[in-house]
Amino acid sequence: MPELPEVEVVRRYLDEHLPGSEIESVDVKLPRLLKNASPEAFGAALKGRVFAAVRRKGKYLVLGLDGPKSLLVHLRMTGRLVWKADPGARLPPYTRIVFQLSKGVLAYGDVRTLGELWLIPSQGLSGVPGFDALGPDALDPKLTAEGFARALRAGRSSVKAFLLNQRNLAGVGNIYADEALFLAGIRPERPCAAVSAQEAERLFKTVRQVFETSIESGGTTFRDFLDGSGREGGNAANLYVYGREGKPCRVCGTAIELTHIAGRGTRFCPKCQS
Ligand SMILES: [Zn+2]
Repeated sequence: MPELPEVEVVRRYLDEHLPGSEIESVDVKLPRLLKNASPEAFGAALKGRVFAAVRRKGKYLVLGLDGPKSLLVHLRMTGRLVWKADPGARLPPYTRIVFQLSKGVLAYGDVRTLGELWLIPSQGLSGVPGFDALGPDALDPKLTAEGFARALRAGRSSVKAFLLNQRNLAGVGNIYADEALFLAGIRPERPCAAVSAQEAERLFKTVRQVFETSIESGGTTFRDFLDGSGREGGNAANLYVYGREGKPCRVCGTAIELTHIAGRGTRFCPKCQS
């Protein structure tokens, strides 16, 4: 599932190409992806509108438009937003929605069709509960290591569950939670209250470190993720624990273990993490 780095990679690409482009037509091939509009209402709200900046909070993308409504997208498991300069370009497989633009074509593709699109007010609250309730974005410059440590140490869950809760910190999912905990040397099942302030601040830094490394590498592709131009990301080669159960730890050589925490497969090194 795309997490913050993958969504940010897509955002950067779309933000280079969409602003200033007008939506000429919208073809919705799978209406149930639209969470608060019929295909007719969706098309009517978007046709003739011009794209503004593309923003991101957590794993959500906001495709800003010049009118009263903008477009909110969550890619969930296998969603993709791909822009091509050539309006007649071959679109990726599993394309479900096609936006013909004054400059190029934007395709929403989705293999498992769990993605979600909403029309939201361009100003103010979106009315989408999962979006309006998000905690601070993990890369929000206003967020400090001290503030993060204070919130984490007041948590009542395991440290892994805390990281996955989007109300605490928006953007972290299963891959990067495991990677950040590995680099911080913290076992994922440890209760938040048993994490020291120093460890929590270190974890804040490793969360940002794994995100920045992944963004620079174009995101992590295991099976499905494609960036905004339709290319796979290169970050899988940088991972320490995710997807590496049974393989030797890249730091100490001990076999990486797999357990289940907060309902999610969780990988860790029994020697490097305590
Ligand atoms: Zn190790």
